[in-house]
Amino acid sequence: MTDDAAFRVMAVNTTLTVREALTRQAPTGITRKAFADLLTGAVLVRETMAPNQRVQAILKRRKETGSLVADTHPTEGTRGLVSMPAKSPQFPMTDAMLQVMRRLHDGKIHQGVVDVPNGGDVSAALREYMRVSEQVDTLVAVGTLFHGDEVASAGGYLIQLLPGVGTAPMAFMSERVREFGDIDAHLAAGKAEPRALIAALLEQIPYTELSDSELKFGCWCSAERLLGALSTLPKSDIDDFVQRGEVLEISCDYCHRQYRIPPAKLVGLQLES
Ligand SMILES: [Zn+2]
Repeated sequence: MTDDAAFRVMAVNTTLTVREALTRQAPTGITRKAFADLLTGAVLVRETMAPNQRVQAILKRRKETGSLVADTHPTEGTRGLVSMPAKSPQFPMTDAMLQVMRRLHDGKIHQGVVDVPNGGDVSAALREYMRVSEQVDTLVAVGTLFHGDEVASAGGYLIQLLPGVGTAPMAFMSERVREFGDIDAHLAAGKAEPRALIAALLEQIPYTELSDSELKFGCWCSAERLLGALSTLPKSDIDDFVQRGEVLEISCDYCHRQYRIPPAKLVGLQLES
């Protein structure tokens, strides 16, 4: 927090998380950066708006099928899902919208959907989301740097104007952020470390570090959860599996962990449905 109590500043190094999620999902071309940036953005939104709750950020396009999902959990980690049709695997940020879902303290889901500004990237989508849906004055940027196919570095920052300080500090901070320039340039200069990013962002502005937390790739799938998903299938499908009497092999869409579900477990589902 800045010492004048006008701003809260958050920076994240998501390199390892993003690298792992990209390895599991293997997006190609321009989809890689959109997906990578979305993962970093979801972490920033969670750490700012709901640090102890799960946050999901989804990019979709108005007239096309396919979506990119970032799913971040306070203790389990962050995972992602790329669901693009095989014949058009690319996700251009045109006609796109960003949907963010997070749980509130009373258990209800807060959901916001914004259009990605024309020609905008994930950073622009996040700014729009914070402005329109959360109604908090925010400066936010996320970036991913690739070396060939490898994620060299990924990270971002979020600066939030605290309530009750008027709008004058925001104009000053916006100018500071303009001077700071493109986040990718800082990542390229090896400044993905959150403390280095914050020092470069705030430069002459006095501030105090309040806390930090660990980030990791993680998936919270389990055989029970997959069975839960299977129980939503039509009863005839489950009967089919049971009749064939084979061990059902399924893998988690997020992390690709393999599960083997014996017919006996499916018989249980038959009884429930
Ligand atoms: Zn999983």
